[in-house]
Amino acid sequence: MNDWTEKDLKYIWHPCSQMKDYEELPPIVIQKGQGMYLYDIDGNKYLDVISSWWCNLLGHCNPKINEAVKNQINELEHVIFANFTHTQAIRLCERLSKIMPEGLCKFNFTDNGSSAIEAAMKVSFQYHQQTGYPQKTKFMALTDAYHGETIGALSAGDCDLYTKLYKPILMDIKKIQGPDCYRCPYGKTRDNCTCECFEKAEEIFAKYGDETSAILVEPLLQGSAGMKIYPALYLKRLRKLCNEYNVHLIADEIATGFGRTGKMFAFNHAGVSPDIMCLSKGLTGGYMPMALFVTTQKIYDAFYADYNTGKAFMHSHTYSGNPLACSAANAVLDILEDGSILKKAQENAIYFNNIIKEKFLTHPNVGEVRHIGLINAIELVEDKQSKKPFDSNLRTGYQIYKKALMEGVILRPLGDVIYFNPPLIMERKDMDFATDVAHKCLYEILPASK
Ligand SMILES: *Cc1c(COP(=O)(O)O)cnc(C)c1O
Repeated sequence: MNDWTEKDLKYIWHPCSQMKDYEELPPIVIQKGQGMYLYDIDGNKYLDVISSWWCNLLGHCNPKINEAVKNQINELEHVIFANFTHTQAIRLCERLSKIMPEGLCKFNFTDNGSSAIEAAMKVSFQYHQQTGYPQKTKFMALTDAYHGETIGALSAGDCDLYTKLYKPILMDIKKIQGPDCYRCPYGKTRDNCTCECFEKAEEIFAKYGDETSAILVEPLLQGSAGMKIYPALYLKRLRKLCNEYNVHLIADEIATGFGRTGKMFAFNHAGVSPDIMCLSKGLTGGYMPMALFVTTQKIYDAFYADYNTGKAFMHSHTYSGNPLACSAANAVLDILEDGSILKKAQENAIYFNNIIKEKFLTHPNVGEVRHIGLINAIELVEDKQSKKPFDSNLRTGYQIYKKALMEGVILRPLGDVIYFNPPLIMERKDMDFATDVAHKCLYEILPASK
């Protein structure tokens, strides 16, 4: 331990951490970031294959984003966003509107992902109140969902690790048994499925659809659930079902937006549009806390009236539409604009998935390797045949994480799911290195001979 870690532990309560774990593995003091790498104050370097909580999109200290933020900070750091505006926000929304799924055209800013989810829920509820459906007071979400940590967003979530304890203070949000392609209860595989599990959604809609304002989904990828991946057909069918019941479809693209799934947005795979989409994380390239929801003209119009009708959306956050964050987001779009980064990422995604399958599938405890875009997940199980998970008290994933850190790779598994969710700029040599380290650490913790 150096002076800095000692002081850190004296003052700082880290997010999503059992602080006692830090006795054994103190926080690493990072001094510098460059591209795929982070450097600590002792001169060690770490390959960041998790995009620093899935938000870093184009590498650390990307020269173009750095330049944009530096320029902006000399012009304007912040301004109240009611009655005032600024060119960075205007430019950003104009450019985003051109790449959104069809029909999404009105942008409302918040300052973190959870808040965007809550704002989307409120706007959906208020829409129905103002259009003659006061009975639509409920929300739905999928099992294993993750939508953030604030009370409303947490209520929509279904990962026990985060929600269970708080149930007594959470909203009652109806959970639909969602797709589970690795352990499909219908005995289907990814190749021969027609989303038989969608009947669960139909059942819940039949029961509660008329009282429901909106359903929230993480399209194609349930990240926190362990990078669970499901087919685009599910979203297509959900779109239809939502139309039948006048229920808003809220797409939580906070993790999937900006090329993570191989297309700009996960909903692009489905060829349909949600009514509301939430974005954060990659939006600013991982530079600044900013989020937004974007919605349709139709929803927007239901709020547009004389002031005294009380129909305005009276929701704000102090840092809504912050100019520095908008300048970073504009720089991200500058970089993505010509499509070359996305194209290269798609090509590299095939390479990445191939080497991961090659290196890991033969291990007796690797139950499944799944991928979408550059995101690859390796699910470890105690028994490959029965797909029985390890006892979570063994903290198998965490043991692998600690080993890999010593080897200079940040893995941070979700339970016993090892995953890679790297910046789009990851090169093949780094893919070789990251998978070699993960492979070595896996075999150290789980020797294959037993
Ligand atoms: C990270 C995340 C959120 C919450 O965003 P915060 O900025 O951490 O509040 C919500 N939904 C999904 C899918 C996420 O990955």
